[in-house]
Amino acid sequence: MKRVGAHVSIAGGVENAPLNARAIGAKAFAMFTRNQRQWHSAALTPGSVDAFRNNCAEAGFLPQHILPHDSYLINLGHPEPDKLDKSRQAFITEMQRTEELGLVMLNFHPGSHLKLVSEDESLRLIAASVNLALEATRSVTAVIENTAGQGSNLGFRFEQISRIIEFVEDSSRVGVCLDTCHLFASGYDIRTPEAFEDMLGEFDRVVGLRYLRGMHLNDAKQKLGSRIDRHECLGKGMIGADAFAHIMQHPALEEMPLILETPNSDGWAEEIRMLYGFGGE
Ligand SMILES: [Zn+2]
Ligand SMILES: [Zn+2]
Repeated sequence: MKRVGAHVSIAGGVENAPLNARAIGAKAFAMFTRNQRQWHSAALTPGSVDAFRNNCAEAGFLPQHILPHDSYLINLGHPEPDKLDKSRQAFITEMQRTEELGLVMLNFHPGSHLKLVSEDESLRLIAASVNLALEATRSVTAVIENTAGQGSNLGFRFEQISRIIEFVEDSSRVGVCLDTCHLFASGYDIRTPEAFEDMLGEFDRVVGLRYLRGMHLNDAKQKLGSRIDRHECLGKGMIGADAFAHIMQHPALEEMPLILETPNSDGWAEEIRMLYGFGGE
C-alpha cells in the first residue's frame, strides 16, 4: 500500500498530529517533535506521550509510517564549534524525543558550510554529528533529506549524501528521504517516468536504494536546476502531475511515508485523494 500523508501541525501537543493526519485521509504523516522556531522546549510529558501512542494506534499509524522532521534552526555541519555544539545538542534532544514517542526515524536537512569551510569538511562534521546522535539513542534512524542546494546547503547531490553515509559508523541507522521539489530544484529531472527512473537508478548506484525511507511530495515553483527551494501544490508547478502519478504506481515506494509539504494545508485532503486516484490503493 502507498502511505500518503502530510506534515501536520502539533499545535496543542504532539498527540494532535495523528488526529490531524486522520482528518485529512492520510495513511502516513510528518510532524515536528517540538516548536521548531525555538532552541529549547519543555520535555514531553508522560500524558502527552501516552496520548500520542494511543492516537496513532487508534488511527492505524505504525512507527514506520511516521517521519518526524527536525528544527530548521539546526545545522549539523556548522563550521563554528560553539554553534555546531548547540545544533548537535538540539538534534540529540530531538532524536531522544523521537525515541520517547516510540518512533523509529527522524528526518533532517544535512547542514550548511556557510562558505567558511570546504564542502567535504562540512560533510564530515555532519556525519560526526549523526554519530553522536546515534550513540545517544538506541534505535532511531537518522534520515538525511536531499536539499534544493539553496545558499550553502549541502545534500543536493547524491554524491554528498553518499559521503555522509560513508562516515556514519552504524549504516543500519542512517537513511534518506527524497523531496521531489528539492530533486527538481537541484537538477534531477523527474517529470516523465523515464526521467524518474534515471534519477532513481542514479540514486541506487551512488547511494543505494536500500537507504530510501520516505519521500516528500511537492511540486516546484522554480525551473529545473534553479537551486531555489519553493514548494508548489501538486500539478500546479514546474514538475507536473504525471510525476506524482508515476510515484503512486512505483513498486519501490510501497509502505514508506510519502509526505506532502505543499503550500496550502487546506488543500491536503484533496491532494491525498488525487494521489490515491492515480492508482495507488
Ligand atoms: Zn522536504
Ligand atoms: Zn523544501
